[in-house]
Amino acid sequence: MINIAIIGSGPSGCYIADMLSKKVADAQVDIFDRLPTPFGLVRAGVAPDHQGTKNIVRQFERTFSRDNVRFVGNVNIGDDITYQELKDQYDVIAVTIGALQDRDLGIDGEDLNGVYGSGAFVAWYNGHPDHADLNPKLDSSGIAIIGNGNVALDISRILAKTAEEMGSSDITADSVTAIAESPVQDIYLIGRRGPVEASFTNAELSEFAELERCVALVDPAQLPAALPEDFDPKAAKAVEKNLETLRGYAENAADSKPVRLHIMFCASPTAILGENGTVTGLRLEKNQITDGRATGTGETFDLDVQTVISAIGYRSQPIEGMPFDEGRGIVSNEEGRVEDGVYTSGWCKRGPQGVIPANRADSMGVAKQIIADLEANTPAGDKAGFNKIAALLDERNVRTVGFSDWQTINEAEVRRAEGDKPREKFNRIPEMLALLD
Ligand code: NAP
Repeated sequence: MINIAIIGSGPSGCYIADMLSKKVADAQVDIFDRLPTPFGLVRAGVAPDHQGTKNIVRQFERTFSRDNVRFVGNVNIGDDITYQELKDQYDVIAVTIGALQDRDLGIDGEDLNGVYGSGAFVAWYNGHPDHADLNPKLDSSGIAIIGNGNVALDISRILAKTAEEMGSSDITADSVTAIAESPVQDIYLIGRRGPVEASFTNAELSEFAELERCVALVDPAQLPAALPEDFDPKAAKAVEKNLETLRGYAENAADSKPVRLHIMFCASPTAILGENGTVTGLRLEKNQITDGRATGTGETFDLDVQTVISAIGYRSQPIEGMPFDEGRGIVSNEEGRVEDGVYTSGWCKRGPQGVIPANRADSMGVAKQIIADLEANTPAGDKAGFNKIAALLDERNVRTVGFSDWQTINEAEVRRAEGDKPREKFNRIPEMLALLD
């Protein structure tokens, strides 16, 4: 038997598991996750009001249901089982742990109460146990969101929507209540470069056109009349579409709805201002853009905000003993190869870029590489795989969660959902485990 371990049950891990369980003869694929719940980013990263994107789990469920695939939830590799112990028992390891840690802005005031990274904030409203107790400061009339990617748009939209608009989402009950009770009037979405350089996509940008209580606004002076003549024709269509949407927002009346989303460009945060340990404002420096690069003009201005959320990208968390590139915050690798028998894919391989289909393509490539390496060098078949790992987990009193256990948790979440919600997530591990014993 060829024993394959996958660390992390998000999309990248599921795609590798799917291919290897089908294509490698006599393979046993064990997918480890430190949470009792599978699907990683699909459950805890994808916006709760983008349920369509979450449909991909139906395909992953089929993978987990295969005879030679095992879900081993609630097991933290690097803690419950060491990386070396896993290497000793498996012929192949694929590391697909994503990128969970927020990158710092590196400015004064980042440690004030009221400052959050998007990773923590998104995890909070999506019911990830790591941030169930975040209790973000939302008693604010002004909230700033830093970044011009789709994560920044997701957060802005979730803050802008009413509880009714979130009614068919799987946002946690506590979060939707906290957001509904927030007195927020002004949300600022701040890009350090211009609208032409923004990395958000039009489907997401357009969602602000018809929100119940929130109007999107842009200063028309920040929008170019046309793209430069030498602009990359491949990128032009998408950028034109964004500009068209933004021009529409520039015509909106600021007083038409109770909450305003100010879409601002060409400004970098230089300090988060505070009093008594709490945010009282955000200082920004105006930028000029030359050849797509932002440089500060020296001119600063302050925003009256009491909460700041940065959505500027992520780093992966190292696992002890695993080669790790501290500078880039990724697992060290050369085109997916980490070391003998160890591979990586997804955000922990390339950095936090790309949507689920991009990670599918990445994982397919890595899985093909694994298959080619196994064909070139057939393992001796002398590794014990899960038999030995299960014994270690037993000795260490770790309660593993199998796929049928997850189905029990899943059913309980679906059962307790109210109204049109597809599920009410459990966001604490003991609550989930209590359903099983
Ligand atoms: P992203 O698209 O790379 O956006 C990061 C943003 O942070 C950029 O605007 C970047 O500006 C800005 N930034 C970085 N460092 C900064 C700093 N020090 N100060 C100010 N701004 C800074 O990444 P993301 O939004 O985290 O999304 C990650 C990936 O997931 C993307 O591929 C995204 O498309 C995908 N995603 C997709 C969806 C969806 O399809 N609905 C939803 C969420 C995420 P610069 O451009 O100037 O570097």
